[in-house]
Amino acid sequence: MKTEQKDMRRRDFLKVLGAGAVTSAATLYGCGDNEKTAGNAAANVGTRGEADGSQMTYRTSKCGDKVSLLGYGCMRWPMTKDSKGEDVPDQEQINRLIDYALAHGVNYFDTAPVYVRGLSEQATGIALKRHPRDKYFIATKLSTQGRAGQKVSREFSIDMYRNSFKELQTDYIDYYLLHNVTGEQAYRDRFLENGMIDFLLKEKEAGRIRQLGWSFHGQQEGFDWLLSDACGIPWDFVQIQMNYVDWKHASGANVPAEYLYGELHKRNIPAVLMEPLQGGRLSALPDHVVTTLKSRDPEGSVASWAFRFAGTPPGVLTALSGMTYMEHLQDNLHTYCPLHPLTDADNAFLEEVAQLILKYPTIPCNNCDYCMPCPYGVDIPGILLHYNKCVNEGTMPESSQDPNYRKLRRDYLIGYDRAVSEKLRQASHCTGCNECTPFCPQYIRIPQQLQRIDKFIEDLRQGRPF
Ligand code: SF4
Ligand code: SF4
Repeated sequence: MKTEQKDMRRRDFLKVLGAGAVTSAATLYGCGDNEKTAGNAAANVGTRGEADGSQMTYRTSKCGDKVSLLGYGCMRWPMTKDSKGEDVPDQEQINRLIDYALAHGVNYFDTAPVYVRGLSEQATGIALKRHPRDKYFIATKLSTQGRAGQKVSREFSIDMYRNSFKELQTDYIDYYLLHNVTGEQAYRDRFLENGMIDFLLKEKEAGRIRQLGWSFHGQQEGFDWLLSDACGIPWDFVQIQMNYVDWKHASGANVPAEYLYGELHKRNIPAVLMEPLQGGRLSALPDHVVTTLKSRDPEGSVASWAFRFAGTPPGVLTALSGMTYMEHLQDNLHTYCPLHPLTDADNAFLEEVAQLILKYPTIPCNNCDYCMPCPYGVDIPGILLHYNKCVNEGTMPESSQDPNYRKLRRDYLIGYDRAVSEKLRQASHCTGCNECTPFCPQYIRIPQQLQRIDKFIEDLRQGRPF
């Protein structure tokens, strides 16, 4: 394919999904400020030396694959600048991370046409191609997505499907997902009425897809329908959002993970987990929550609690982690080489921790970038993640009567300027057009949140008392 055609294809894919913002190297462990994030991650990683990859815990899929409990989420690859100053995946670092992961027992790599500005599949494919094909499983997705009620064409979908093979340099996909299905109507618009589901089932028969599933963000009615006889597809696996807070306390219109997992488990459908760390929020916790976790397991990292929770239920096939830094990968390897399952008492303890976390008024943004690009250039995740970081760190200037107000105000404003990507814009540029909201899997009312933050910023800038 000619380069310009390929670029056009990427742009089209991104436009349809609503993705495509410059994804920073913000990590699953942190909240968007890269240096700070790396520091936090390092602080939360134990000092236990190198994990023994031969001890990796594996689970068995429907077709008998031995899948590592730690799955590599390829949504947040490290970035670097190319010769034109553009952000591009840092292929050298990616190769190093994938080599290390494979050498330590990780064999499941989850990507999508829209991850990393549309460059994840290619970068992942380059790194994996350097290893024998039978040493790893590739998961990727049909990322077509339009507005509610928007039909997606068969040609466009097949084009996206075929391009995944090209980018990943493979002639079969091990785990293929319908990406981010929200319910019956979305399934009909994107996969049923255009004949794509029949096409994919034939591809499976032909061996080019080994296992077929879907990833879910939506409401219970839609989830139930997708598993029902009315939908009628014998799914091999389903990808759900699950962590120890969302287990009982899913945000917005999302369904508690306890229900999602339970429905899959009783049907014997393996669950692939996304957001086991809530997009990093469960490792960037307030100090007293960290102290609570450390008091029960001084050696374990804060993140290890979340991954042990994710890995304990037997119906979990793999838990995906977007490990941007080697420290994250090494820490997670310790957690799963081998997994030490949580006891009932541990689970009760984590529910108490979840209650502590819920007291903090963070915005449930997972830094997924699905809301981007904003047509007015607003850096939605950058703004929300800076806000969350200050809430969690206890550095919000909450009252102009606070003795520390001047320092907190200054730090918030400086941090805000830094948090917003240099090529994007601050909350004051939000027009309230609402283009972004339908794409948010966490059901955040984005313009309302941005307007609230913008008013807060303006009060701080003007020094208005509050
Ligand atoms: S509502 Fe605001 S943030 Fe969302 S797309 Fe419109 S301008 Fe951008
Ligand atoms: S606002 Fe929603 S869509 Fe945008 S990055 Fe956050 S979680 Fe993702």
